[in-house]
Amino acid sequence: SPTADRPEWIWRNGTLSRWEQAQIHVNAVGHASTAAIFEGIKAYRADDGRLLLFRLDEHLRRLFDSARICRLDLPYSLADLRTGVFDLLRGNGYDQDAYVRPWAFPAGLIREQMVPAGSVCEVVIDSWPFRSRPDVTRGCRAGVSSWQRVSDAAMPPRVKAFSNYHNGRLAMMEARENGHDWPILLNERHKVSEGPGACVALVRHGTVTTPSLTSGVLESITRDTVLRLLDESGEPVVEREVDRSELYLADELFFLGTAWEILPITSIDGLPVGQGRPGPVTRRLADAYARLVRGRSDRHTDWLTEVPR
Ligand code: PMP
Repeated sequence: SPTADRPEWIWRNGTLSRWEQAQIHVNAVGHASTAAIFEGIKAYRADDGRLLLFRLDEHLRRLFDSARICRLDLPYSLADLRTGVFDLLRGNGYDQDAYVRPWAFPAGLIREQMVPAGSVCEVVIDSWPFRSRPDVTRGCRAGVSSWQRVSDAAMPPRVKAFSNYHNGRLAMMEARENGHDWPILLNERHKVSEGPGACVALVRHGTVTTPSLTSGVLESITRDTVLRLLDESGEPVVEREVDRSELYLADELFFLGTAWEILPITSIDGLPVGQGRPGPVTRRLADAYARLVRGRSDRHTDWLTEVPR
């Protein structure tokens, strides 16, 4: 069966290609990656064996949004990419959860740092076995980074561009040096933005608050999922600018994203969050999310796309 390092197939420019044969010239790695964009989608194995993609079309739409801002022309429609994802997952025959990564980058040999607008793109869809196992019982330690989140005026975090992860990586290495698991970055107004690979939310006096979409964050699909679940059950939820000091007064803090799912934060800059254990709201949300994505809930079945057999 396929391993993370060696799935059998990769989707490339409209067809499945053997993993080993999907090569490019080494020249294409450098400058082309300046303009590369991508997506990260989860496929969950349901109890009855179906493979369920979570909010597939929303992820693919965000890829097109990223392409638009970066002025890349993707030579495929959303329907083409959806079919590509199905073909790839069927081809790789996963009998477990998988991560799906569509990405696009300017094709061919590139000699210019400033990759021109409208460059012809290669589109690739990769996938590998990936079981999200957020440590809901233990949680993680977070630290506020001294690195500032890239800003919309410089490198929009709303774009899911590989180059944005240079910013996240610097913050992550600093966090690890300081004994934390993950950083939380502040934006150019010194307000809370997000983690390097997930959004962040806090719970205080029973209200869930998360930085607004103009705080320097990716338009996260997990964030939207959680906000909608809370809103639909009539629970208080707020999107606004969040101060750093609010992190220290939160009863609960958690990351949220496709790969990290709902990951409790149990310490922030060395201070325990609440009782220093994952709190009840976070645990309830993590549980609701886990049931939803595996098709164990009757809420929002419209968010699940079954990979046709
Ligand atoms: N912010 C960043 C920087 C991310 O990389 C991710 C993961 N895609 C998220 C937030 C969460 O987004 P989503 O819920 O759509 O996965």
